[in-house]
Amino acid sequence: MVKADLIIKNISELLTLDETINADPDLGIIYDGAIASYRGTIVFIGDVKELAGSVDKDEECMVVDANGSVVMPGFVDAHTHLIFDGDRSDELPMKLKGMSYKSIADSGGGIRKTVIHTRKAPLNKLINIGKERLDAMEMAGVTSTEIKTGYGLTTKSELKLIDAADTVRKNFLKNIEITFLGAHAVPSDIRKEDYIDVMKKEMIPEISKKKNVKFIDVFCEEGFFNYDESKEILEYGKKYNMIPKIHADEFSDGNGALLAAQVKAVSADHLLKSSGHGLEEMKKAGVIPVLLPGTILTTFIEVKPNIDLMRTLKMDIAISSDYNPNCTIINPWLLMWLSVYRLKLTLEEAIKGMTINSAKAIAMDKKVGSLKVGKKANLIITDVNSHIHLFSDITATHTKNVIISRI
Ligand SMILES: [Zn+2]
Repeated sequence: MVKADLIIKNISELLTLDETINADPDLGIIYDGAIASYRGTIVFIGDVKELAGSVDKDEECMVVDANGSVVMPGFVDAHTHLIFDGDRSDELPMKLKGMSYKSIADSGGGIRKTVIHTRKAPLNKLINIGKERLDAMEMAGVTSTEIKTGYGLTTKSELKLIDAADTVRKNFLKNIEITFLGAHAVPSDIRKEDYIDVMKKEMIPEISKKKNVKFIDVFCEEGFFNYDESKEILEYGKKYNMIPKIHADEFSDGNGALLAAQVKAVSADHLLKSSGHGLEEMKKAGVIPVLLPGTILTTFIEVKPNIDLMRTLKMDIAISSDYNPNCTIINPWLLMWLSVYRLKLTLEEAIKGMTINSAKAIAMDKKVGSLKVGKKANLIITDVNSHIHLFSDITATHTKNVIISRI
């Protein structure tokens, strides 16, 4: 018998995402299931009939009736630029006129515009912004996330963004990983070679002392950082124990997928123009592909990632939001809907993409992303009785209750 302080029963489909359940290796569904946890950790998961014989209720045990609905792991968002100040809504008419991402950036918009506002913002303001957006994510069912820097682009302001993300993590949601993205753009007042030098000599050594930044990321893209520059920065970050991630091949094939494999990145994200060879090398190196359907929508990109090849290679496709001033879609249900209706992922691929596979993309899969004994009790009680109904309505948010382990 195990002790439990939370029990959820009357679950029509318990989507465990446990790939060891042989009857359903995709979603690991347990029908008429129950789940129990103690102090935020799952202690029982299985058939409701086995519950009474396995679990001992703690004095203050809460028993939740799921009313015959689907219960699933909380969503994991593996790619966000969550904390920034300023607004770039004025870029929408420009995009509608046909201006490209790069031409908007070259004319004073884009990342550099957000940098101006974010540098000026005091730390407290950034913490509040982060908390507000995180609240919206949690309400929708996101229980773990990644947060990138990249709107400071000086040592001082990048450290300020790290402090803001870390404060949000300590006070509100423990399951956050921070990524240093100094190589998001080159500030307007410095030459690129000099900026790379500043990153290597000052930013990376300083930031690595903070001990709370797990990943280093680069915007490897024409007009930003090319293959060689990206490689130099990521290899340098590795020396300081930061794990590489990469924004790869979004608007052009810059060999970003190949680079992700070469530097053994945990993930490569976007991948719209990646070569087949790049994807094959990623698979061999165990790099997780992260697709960002919200960005595809808001940048009016018609190209789709090579999902057929990713399937052939049996890659663990992850889905994330890429929340940023250019794409403010935070709702994971909409992202899953877009994955199916725009990218033609299967329902199972979409659900795995936003749970266990996105957990892999931020190396959190040992703790979250699926429901197994020993993992965190981060889960969603939905308002539908079958997972096929999770995709029926573009406007729906199927989160009835979110349970988050904050220990
Ligand atoms: Zn991004």
